[in-house]
Amino acid sequence: MAVVCPECDNPIVVDPDEVEEGETLQCDECGIDLEVVSVDPLELAAVDEAGYDDEDTTHAGDEEDE
Ligand SMILES: [Zn+2]
Repeated sequence: MAVVCPECDNPIVVDPDEVEEGETLQCDECGIDLEVVSVDPLELAAVDEAGYDDEDTTHAGDEEDE
């Protein structure tokens, strides 16, 4: 069974028998961490690591103003 990465739309093949709710997988394509929020139906959600490292969020106004 394949689910689509919410971040990059890359199909991720997951065997529902091999994962449990709360388990964390990683997308091969974009490297994002995905938590198994449901196994029936199989559903993944991006793990929010806000607070751990905000480097990615500081470029918000960077591109517009110089
Ligand atoms: Zn991805």
